[in-house]
Amino acid sequence: MAVEVLLELPDVALPSEAALTRAKVALGARLGDSKVDTSRDGCERFMRDDSDATGRLPSAVVHAANTDDVRACLAIAQDLGVPVTPRAAGTGRTGGAVPVAGGIVLATSALADTKEIDRDDLVAVVGPGVVTGELHAACEAEGLFYPPDPSSWQTCMIGGNVAENAGGPRAFKYGVTRDYVLGVEACLMGGEVLRPGRRTVKGVTGYDVTSLLVGSEGTLAVFSEVTLRLVRRPPAVHTLLALFDDVTAAARAVSGLVRVGHVPRCLELMDRETLVALRASGAAIDPRAGALLLCEVDGHPAAAEEAFERVGEQLSASPGILEVQVAQDEASRDRLWAARRALSGATRKLAKYKLSEDVVVPRSRLEELLVATRELAAEHGVRHLTYGHAGDGNMHVNFLWDAPEERPAVARAIEALMRTTVALGGTLSGEHGIGIAKAPYLALEQSPGLIRLQRDLKSVFDPRGLLNPGKIFPAPGHRAC
Ligand SMILES: Cc1cc2nc3c(=O)[nH]c(=O)nc-3n(C[C@H](O)[C@H](O)[C@H](O)COP(=O)(O)OP(=O)(O)OC[C@H]3O[C@@H](n4cnc5c(N)ncnc54)[C@H](O)[C@@H]3O)c2cc1C
Repeated sequence: MAVEVLLELPDVALPSEAALTRAKVALGARLGDSKVDTSRDGCERFMRDDSDATGRLPSAVVHAANTDDVRACLAIAQDLGVPVTPRAAGTGRTGGAVPVAGGIVLATSALADTKEIDRDDLVAVVGPGVVTGELHAACEAEGLFYPPDPSSWQTCMIGGNVAENAGGPRAFKYGVTRDYVLGVEACLMGGEVLRPGRRTVKGVTGYDVTSLLVGSEGTLAVFSEVTLRLVRRPPAVHTLLALFDDVTAAARAVSGLVRVGHVPRCLELMDRETLVALRASGAAIDPRAGALLLCEVDGHPAAAEEAFERVGEQLSASPGILEVQVAQDEASRDRLWAARRALSGATRKLAKYKLSEDVVVPRSRLEELLVATRELAAEHGVRHLTYGHAGDGNMHVNFLWDAPEERPAVARAIEALMRTTVALGGTLSGEHGIGIAKAPYLALEQSPGLIRLQRDLKSVFDPRGLLNPGKIFPAPGHRAC
């Protein structure tokens, strides 16, 4: 069956057949056949992530089990001039783990040891294949807390989170993955292994190479181990849901909370069209509601309760509020979050195709972004729905369509959204990264000099351009260049 192309692959250099054949032989000899899958079925499973991009069939998938496997793979690839695409769980939304040049996919999901959870130093040392939700549970069992919580936490992995600098609902109070990465074990093209970073609370020795590698989308190095900072688990958590008649009223309420200094750990917003999707999936949401705000406050019991009451009072007095519902126990809290987590699946059912953007604007411009999104979608005749981490100004704008002929209008709407975001002082991606999906728009936000500097950095780490080629940087012919 022909695969429909939603995201076009960038123009990248392809390895020669001879190099691929030699690489397969060398990998098998070095790592053993059990770790090197060259079967068509085995390789086909690694052509996609969650972005709607389909890559070129890789010639081999290396299932690394330890650092030596990773470095061996990178040494062979470098020697033979074969591209390598690192991969964790494949839940990425911008095509980061999609092998656009074929070659080798380097799967790190089997490096899944939680090597250490240190209660005294508040540090965890984990492999890149540890599932984020499993790390949450392991920390919480020790009375500790690893705050970054991408909504994909049940399946995504720490390696992918670090490579994308993942965020999540709790980022409003606790920050994103970068704020918790103290150090990494980084394998470079050619096989050298470096350990930038530290496990101490403070440390300013040399350039902050760790921060550079966090969010580098698998284009500079492959992580084989990550050292993470933990915090103590907040003993009390309170959750409420606020229904508004319209999304702009909800956005104003968010700005109002931030303005007076409230710091809930989450402030998640869903617009009218998103509520339609949730109702269609069986969620019982008041039919009058045109927007929903999910808000969570945590901390020490007395302080958290007081803060929660004040947030509730302020929301109850906000213009456009219909109702505030407080989760009375763990089960009702889980029900509220289940609806948030089900969103991606629920919205997929609304149309044959969906592309999801994750733009960010300064919090004070959130309402303007929502209004402008509505207008640009109407102007281009494209269906859309918007939800996301309103407290951070980070919204997921989803464009929906059914017929391939509608795709050019969607492309125009996406470009208009990117231009609007930048004009509002925002940024193209809050957490999903650039990958191949947003590379065409990079030049809207960053100057030629800044893009050149980053390309130069890339070539210091990877002079032959073999590590995850085709990602982040605009290719010739990209419209917005
Ligand atoms: C339903 C759903 C909800 C989501 N919600 C959120 C959200 O709230 N917040 C958020 O930030 N994201 C979210 N995402 C996107 C995605 O889950 C994140 O980007 C996540 O961090 C990707 O992790 P992964 O393990 O799936 O990585 P992959 O998709 O496998 O890889 C992502 C990138 O990391 C690189 N990479 C993978 N492993 C390594 C390694 N060991 N070393 C170096 N580079 C590596 C890859 O090359 C690729 O560029 C969501 C996705 C889905 C499907």
